[in-house]
Amino acid sequence: MTLLPKALFRLIESFQKLPGIGPKSATRLAFYLLHVPVEELERFAENLRVLKASTVLCSLCKNVAEVDPCSVCSDPSRDQTMVCVVEQPTDVLSFEKTGKYHGLYHVLHGAIDPLNNIGPDEIYIEDLMKRIRNQEACRQGRESGIREVILAMNSNMEGEATAMYVTKQLKVQSATCKVTRLAHGLPMGADIEYADEVTLTRALEGRREY
Ligand SMILES: [Zn+2]
Repeated sequence: MTLLPKALFRLIESFQKLPGIGPKSATRLAFYLLHVPVEELERFAENLRVLKASTVLCSLCKNVAEVDPCSVCSDPSRDQTMVCVVEQPTDVLSFEKTGKYHGLYHVLHGAIDPLNNIGPDEIYIEDLMKRIRNQEACRQGRESGIREVILAMNSNMEGEATAMYVTKQLKVQSATCKVTRLAHGLPMGADIEYADEVTLTRALEGRREY
């Protein structure tokens, strides 16, 4: 028999379903909320309640948005000839924070990961190909289309596998679309001595004139 009141027990269970939250953190969070004023808890509950109802996936770029198409896709000042392909919606936020990228995005919502049964069909790769195909049709009608696809996947095994697959597919879909990858280099403050071979090789390959 548990000593915990049912409400607390259920809340702990819910917290435990969140990524990165183990039983200890879940318990700590649940007990913490007991001390939070009721109005604040109600706001919290309301935010959770409307989370799904008030968000949509943009039908073009698959980013999470309030409206479809999203504010980036429907912004005429964005460069419509460039698409940056990322794994997660949070990656879009990171690029937007730099203020240096003015093209469009495509969010895959994951990466190819055979060990966890995630193949190309489980993420939004085909939707990207559809966008490219549509643009190809547009171009034949002499309209501007996507000319460059920037692959911005994470630099791990899954990211590499995804980038390779997407590149192969893109070459099939379009003969004219340029495919580029982010230069992988050393993070600021990193010591060369401790960099692994892959990072150093990439940093060398991505070097620029100084
Ligand atoms: Zn969009």
